[in-house]
Amino acid sequence: EYKGMSKEHMMDIRRQYCNPMTMKVTYYKKPVFLHQGYMQWLWDVDGKRYLDMFAGVATVSVGHCHPKVTAATEQQLKKLWHTTNIYVYPPLHEYCEKLASYLPDPLKVIYLTNSGSEANDLAMLMARLHTGNFDIITFRGSYHGGSPQALGLTSDGAYKYPIANGLGCTNTMCPDVFRGLWGGSHCRDSPVQTIRECSCAQDHCMANEQYIKQLKETFATSVPTRIAAFFGEPIQGVGGAVQYPKNYLKEAYKLVRERGGICISDEVQTGFGRTGSHFWGFQGHDVIPDMVTMAKGIGNGFPMGAVVTTPEIAASFAKGIHFNTFGGNPMACAVASSVLDTIKEDGMQQNSLHVGTYLMTELAKLRDIYEIIGDVRGKGLQIGVEMVTDKVNRDPLPPEAMSAIFEDIKDMGVLIGKGGLFGQTFRIKPPMCITMEDADFFLAVFNKSIYNYMEKR
Ligand code: PMP
Repeated sequence: EYKGMSKEHMMDIRRQYCNPMTMKVTYYKKPVFLHQGYMQWLWDVDGKRYLDMFAGVATVSVGHCHPKVTAATEQQLKKLWHTTNIYVYPPLHEYCEKLASYLPDPLKVIYLTNSGSEANDLAMLMARLHTGNFDIITFRGSYHGGSPQALGLTSDGAYKYPIANGLGCTNTMCPDVFRGLWGGSHCRDSPVQTIRECSCAQDHCMANEQYIKQLKETFATSVPTRIAAFFGEPIQGVGGAVQYPKNYLKEAYKLVRERGGICISDEVQTGFGRTGSHFWGFQGHDVIPDMVTMAKGIGNGFPMGAVVTTPEIAASFAKGIHFNTFGGNPMACAVASSVLDTIKEDGMQQNSLHVGTYLMTELAKLRDIYEIIGDVRGKGLQIGVEMVTDKVNRDPLPPEAMSAIFEDIKDMGVLIGKGGLFGQTFRIKPPMCITMEDADFFLAVFNKSIYNYMEKR
């Protein structure tokens, strides 16, 4: 019960008064009624505790109600809530200077928004204005937002509508080295290898060459000679922690720039230390984008997003007026500023690397035991476990089977996510404060859930 309201009553209200879509995305057959959170833990209204291995899709970056973030939020809460643009508020300046210090030159000009979709909308607009070109390329299987503009970038049919969205957006083949046509054990930058053999030589990746050929074909078939932008996540999030051959982004950036386009890294899920080895996902690909978009983890659950770009691109955009009532409001800036401090003070990037590498190494051992675990991949705490009917054909494990395992994991007290074009990939992206003990608990539960499924099958 919550304030005298039963669970049945809450579901009735949901059915009657809430966006019908919310009935689809309660995720579980028996939904979780959340009441409270602390760090990596969540409690439901009955007092049952869950280990949160999903963090609301990599959103709760440093931990639920992290004491440092809560204290900073409380302080600002009692001082000033306001809009962004009309006056000069100290928290915005403190935050922008701090955030800029985490980005390499020339990425120093910051636009604060309220969500990832808004950040990507703005990035599209700026790219088009700056280049004078219109066409934008993204990866198949990507998710970059649900607003009418960002839906054009998003290339997962489940989120599309039969209306004219995405004018000028074209997708290219995702260079997925597990499910895609080419690739294998040496192609990607992950602590574990794929089960798929590959014929790449040490210094020459055949898969990369093939996927780059596909990108060139996309240029040739679908866009004029000059383009506005290329959007890519360093590791696909909703797509299921999909990773590309090591040099793909580097070569793709070069080809895009040759065609007048700018390169945009969507760090909504991969930013803020989550990939462990680096603060930003793009750094793992040895590239410097012309624009970076971010959200989710930036505010540890507080609604916020950002676009960071170069002074040159910002100057092209400054010809008009851009107004955003709440983007960068004092509350959001105070929260986000303490999130940056907490990541640093609590060593969360290092923790992501340490616990994430351990998780992937142990998950790979389970992969080698169970026929239905096809792939384990990712970096740091951005992990995907792709489920298959068998390792030879690698057909996606059907939705009923995925749901049964997913529900069982939840019933044993762990929350994870699902993703991938066919809903075939479990997604593990916990708050970055999780410990090795938590990792062991998760691994035991995951192992048991797969065992239970195999027994019943
Ligand atoms: N980009 C990526 C990579 C995302 O994962 C998401 C959200 N899942 C978005 C953009 C959109 O963010 P928001 O939901 O805050 O609009």
